[in-house]
Amino acid sequence: RTVYVNGEYLPEEDAKISIFDRSFLMADGVYEVTSVLDGKLIDFEGHKVRLERSLNELDMQKPEAFDDLLEIHRELVRANEITDGLVYLQVSRGSAGDRDFAYPSEDVKPTLVLFTQNKPGLADSPAAKKGIKVISIEDQRWGRRDIKTVQLLYPSMGKMMAKAAGADDAWMVEDGFVTEGTSNNAYIVKGNTIITRQLSNDILHGITRAAVLRFAKEAQMTVEERSFTMEEAKEADEAFITSASTFVMPVVEMDGVPVGTGEVGSVAPRLREIYLDESRKAAV
Ligand code: PLP
Repeated sequence: RTVYVNGEYLPEEDAKISIFDRSFLMADGVYEVTSVLDGKLIDFEGHKVRLERSLNELDMQKPEAFDDLLEIHRELVRANEITDGLVYLQVSRGSAGDRDFAYPSEDVKPTLVLFTQNKPGLADSPAAKKGIKVISIEDQRWGRRDIKTVQLLYPSMGKMMAKAAGADDAWMVEDGFVTEGTSNNAYIVKGNTIITRQLSNDILHGITRAAVLRFAKEAQMTVEERSFTMEEAKEADEAFITSASTFVMPVVEMDGVPVGTGEVGSVAPRLREIYLDESRKAAV
């Protein structure tokens, strides 16, 4: 596989970054994941805009190659012959050649790394047809979840807890209300109404979320951006998650309780289809 590190395209085994890199020592880095369908990038611009926001919120310098990101994504997709898959991008505050809590001086340049993951059939995953199971866990992450940092230990633990419980993912709950999934935004459906938590520092502002809510409104569905509890979720007609890598994925069970009929409903698959159709059309 060809990867990109600080201006160079390299075979993955030749790619190196410093052991003093602040992503490694302090989780001082941000990332984006952009999906690739039919060799084209889905929602690229949205991911780039969010990356810029994450960098700004952390006073991190933009990598020099920021304006070339589309070109770099495309080159990796081409070099690795990705038809369906993902492009992972990470920017860290770089390495000052030592360990120090204070940010390094301005002349320490950020580290920029990109690699691809090949995922044949990404858009027709069997999970989308049968739905996934979630458990609920307490949200123990830090308070700036709107910044897409590489601090992913708690979400990883959440996935492991879900797996141990025979489920696929965990929805995190804070002060009684669902924030989001470990790596996705969470939704419930009641009749023609889609309910998902309002944007704030408590959740990541999903790029897929923004698109799906827009398509839902265009399809005459009602969108309510508000908090909901697991109790309300368990009584809903349907539930689903969204993310760049899962698109729209139905949730059919929560904490062992079936959602609605316990089968995939009609709203989530419909939104999935609209999202995939429209995003493919707009893909770059
Ligand atoms: N929420 C969290 C915590 C995430 O990690 C992600 C994506 O990885 C999302 C939501 C969904 O965001 P997006 O649709 O931009 O992939």
